[in-house]
Amino acid sequence: MDLYEYQGKQYFARFDIPVSPGATADTVEEAVAVAERIGYPVVVKAQVQVGGRGKAGGVKLASDRDEAEAHARSILGLDIKGHVVRRVWIERASDIAREYYASFTLDRSAKDHLCMVSARGGVDIEQVAAEEPGAIARRHVDPLDGFGIEEARAVVAEAGLDEEARDGAAEVLVKLYRCYVEGDADLVEINPLVLTPDGRVHALDAKVTLDDSAAFRHPEWAEWANLEELDPRDRLAREKGLQYVGLDGYVGIIANGAGLAMSTCDVVEQVGGKPANFLDVGGGASADVMASALEVINTDEKVKAIFVNIFGGITRGEEVANGIVQALGRVDIAAPIVIRLDGTNAEQGRAILEEHGSDRVLSLPTMLEAARRATELAGGVVR
Ligand code: GDP
Ligand code: MN
Repeated sequence: MDLYEYQGKQYFARFDIPVSPGATADTVEEAVAVAERIGYPVVVKAQVQVGGRGKAGGVKLASDRDEAEAHARSILGLDIKGHVVRRVWIERASDIAREYYASFTLDRSAKDHLCMVSARGGVDIEQVAAEEPGAIARRHVDPLDGFGIEEARAVVAEAGLDEEARDGAAEVLVKLYRCYVEGDADLVEINPLVLTPDGRVHALDAKVTLDDSAAFRHPEWAEWANLEELDPRDRLAREKGLQYVGLDGYVGIIANGAGLAMSTCDVVEQVGGKPANFLDVGGGASADVMASALEVINTDEKVKAIFVNIFGGITRGEEVANGIVQALGRVDIAAPIVIRLDGTNAEQGRAILEEHGSDRVLSLPTMLEAARRATELAGGVVR
């Protein structure tokens, strides 16, 4: 789950990472009231889960009530890269001497945590990485070794942060690592981490991605989960407990097991089609689960055909087939369905599908044939 900046800052504050005091507002009136309470100058910031808000006019400084009102009015309702601003965060404006970058994330290929620090903060870090990779100091962190003040000092020095910022930045890094590990995050990023003219170092922005697999030990995350910006398909899938990722194509995909679901997407691509989604119904394929999966896919207007790819293992073919048939009875599906059923008792399963199937439901024995047919039915060009 991605957090909004203000939520990320609340999370940072729990780990004692210095952030500016502030509050959210959903209307211009509220925004003015908050600004008056905080005292000027304030900064009014669009709360959307997309970067580059500053450049898009979503971050503005206000030195009095009139400016706060004008900025709140221009930012609320603003469309930033397709995200409409419904809420602003208003905080006491900071004086900035220097802007840096700091983050921890998981480096999957190195199988370690990765700390990154740069003296070139405030700007898009991907751009820095592309133009001047040497400007980012990187340090892998073995979770068993941890990350203490010594490591923090080393990476801050390597990044070439200004002398007067080094102690403060190193302290922030140690706290940021704790936030990342104890806070069960996949990513914590501060851009910019600023040095103020009076020598303090603190976080002006917050990007936090929480590890959803750890949600069970963080009941306090629930209030944030409700506010998360989700595509309607993602929201429905989550409500139904399905592993769903929306994509841009036109062949809806349902498979059991994440590996099979990924291979299914690959095979559809390989024959020239475009997957509309990744959807893993899990190990089994009961009628309930299949019905939910079909329901989610059915809400996607881009889907012109559905490819159901199930490999019977512990769940036997005839159970899967019965599940699919029952699900078809419950959900009125707009697109034709191509089913490839294999594995344990596949023959019996296919016989059941044949018996109950209509001309809108087709069973094919191999993944490749099924992928081709689904792509054709969806109006795609098969290679
Ligand atoms: P982003 O563009 O979405 O990453 O939003 P940020 O929160 O990083 O803000 C963008 C830029 O606005 C920062 O890099 C700063 O230069 C500027 N900014 C943000 N907060 C303040 C502040 O309190 N004071 C000043 N002077 N500038 C700020
Ligand atoms: Mn930023």
